[in-house]
Amino acid sequence: MELWAIVEPGKPLQKIYQDDPKPTGTEVLVRVTHCGVCHSDLHLWKGEYDLGGGKKLNILERGVSLPRAPGHEVLGEVVAVGPEATGVAIGDKRVIFPWMGCGTCAVCLRGDENMCDKPHAIGVIHHGGFGSHVLLPHPRYLFDYGNVDPAVAVTFACSGITVYSAIRKLGDTPKDSVILLIGAGGVGFAALTMLHALGYPNVIMSDIAESKRAAALAAGAIGFVLSGPDMIAEVHRIAGGPPAAVIDLVNNGKTTQIGLDVLGRGGKLVLVGVGGGEIPLSTAGMIFKPRSIIGSATGSLHDLKAVIDLAKAGKLAPVPVNPMPKDQANEAMHRLEHGQVTGRIILTS
Ligand SMILES: [Zn+2]
Ligand SMILES: [Zn+2]
Repeated sequence: MELWAIVEPGKPLQKIYQDDPKPTGTEVLVRVTHCGVCHSDLHLWKGEYDLGGGKKLNILERGVSLPRAPGHEVLGEVVAVGPEATGVAIGDKRVIFPWMGCGTCAVCLRGDENMCDKPHAIGVIHHGGFGSHVLLPHPRYLFDYGNVDPAVAVTFACSGITVYSAIRKLGDTPKDSVILLIGAGGVGFAALTMLHALGYPNVIMSDIAESKRAAALAAGAIGFVLSGPDMIAEVHRIAGGPPAAVIDLVNNGKTTQIGLDVLGRGGKLVLVGVGGGEIPLSTAGMIFKPRSIIGSATGSLHDLKAVIDLAKAGKLAPVPVNPMPKDQANEAMHRLEHGQVTGRIILTS
């Protein structure tokens, strides 16, 4: 198989060749036809994450070895199965759940493999969709997407379940309350669509780019606010008071602080992005004005099933996608890094 792989952090991806894996036991081999390009792929390629306070997390400390083909939004066709793989047939076209765990601990057994302490994610720990094939340990990671456009269905594996799982953390937040979304990129619009599908009609979007205003309003946001310290008063004006919750898809410290400060008593701040940074936290302030800060990372196997079911039922407006041939993988990373993308880039092969 061929792989567009990170060989050296930050250097152009290289096309390398490895023997085709032969599935054994319950393993399944999938030929990749679609692979979404995500900001997490950029972090992996650059080789580190900003943890705030000058601290960095190196990908090698995260258990990543190089060369590695990135790509965790993967969809393709089953081309080989191990003798013990059941419920799967050659030719099946499936979306792959990439956030695999150890598969045996209590957390994994209840379907929350994305929360396992021993991550085995595709495109991170194992080769992902920037390769021609991916090898899965078990058919349970394969999901039938029915008649949904595969270029859209592939985005459910990361951006779809990430926003679904974040919205689930709003808990008992009343559906008719106002929700503020920080970040109007591809994931931001996926979040807006998902909030609407899940019955939250009153969403304000925010971004550093004024150019996102028209698209946000056209997509049904009740308001758009330019990011910055002045935005708090503007959000309160549009919402008629503090929003009930904020989903911060940027989470770079500055946005996180605004997200916390814009809330009123009982408000929830759900952190999703890995922009990096830190915030000072008044501990007594969290009592005088009680609020919750909740971290959210990707989603579970149940979340992927739920998102696909919403799409199959026609309840999820499709996110905008830009197909590109996989051999333009470096160009795709470059475009994403420089913010030249509206909607998701999907590498096709
Ligand atoms: Zn992702
Ligand atoms: Zn586990």
